[in-house]
Amino acid sequence: MVEESKENKGSQINERSESGVTGRKIIYDKDGKPCRTCNTLLDFRMATGGSVASSQNQGNSEDSLEKKKIVPSKDCPPDVEELGRSSWTLLHSIAATYPEKPTGDQQQNLKQFISLFGKLYPCWFCGEDFQSYVEKKEPQVMTQEAFGRWLCDAHNEVNIKLGKPTFDCNLWKQRWKDGWEDGRCN
Ligand SMILES: Cc1cc2nc3c(=O)[nH]c(=O)nc-3n(C[C@H](O)[C@H](O)[C@H](O)COP(=O)(O)OP(=O)(O)OC[C@H]3O[C@@H](n4cnc5c(N)ncnc54)[C@H](O)[C@@H]3O)c2cc1C
Repeated sequence: MVEESKENKGSQINERSESGVTGRKIIYDKDGKPCRTCNTLLDFRMATGGSVASSQNQGNSEDSLEKKKIVPSKDCPPDVEELGRSSWTLLHSIAATYPEKPTGDQQQNLKQFISLFGKLYPCWFCGEDFQSYVEKKEPQVMTQEAFGRWLCDAHNEVNIKLGKPTFDCNLWKQRWKDGWEDGRCN
């Protein structure tokens, strides 16, 4: 998802700001090429003139288009969703293994990491929004619990932006550290 103001970034974005097959705006890199890590694979393929037909789902109805998911080969570059899932896994796993009583150095390292993460994130508009969030809500790095909750809130901010349900942050440790109480992760 991208805000209106971001569509004006880069000279080519205005000319090419058509919607993709999923109904989302196609996001372009600053060089004017469709951004692979900012779009879903379906939209990226449409924008680059590739096939949007899927071997898993060839239906024509609007419903089937909505549900259509291209499953790429495992060794292809990630789209915005795969990149996001992998990145959240890394971030929440860092929270899960962060010391309960971190030293000053460890706190400093984590703050720097979060700051650089936003600057280097491969989906540029996602990274810009993440940087804004970090400026608005300072990362809480004093304890593992504080950081886990801060990150959960940051993830929920993106969930809300994308129209997804929010996650109950009381459960972040079960999801990312201890496994669920019903034992299915043991
Ligand atoms: C920093 C960052 C910014 C992003 N910004 C954008 C953006 O602007 N636009 C865009 O299209 N995509 C963005 N993404 C990607 C997006 O957040 C999702 O990763 C992607 O849409 C895939 O979503 P998903 O439904 O598979 O689950 P994900 O949101 O990737 O979540 C993975 C798993 O984490 C768990 N989870 C969900 N919410 C929380 C939470 N609050 N706390 C703890 N665990 C949780 C759930 O078990 C879920 O299955 C961003 C990703 C990152 C890392």
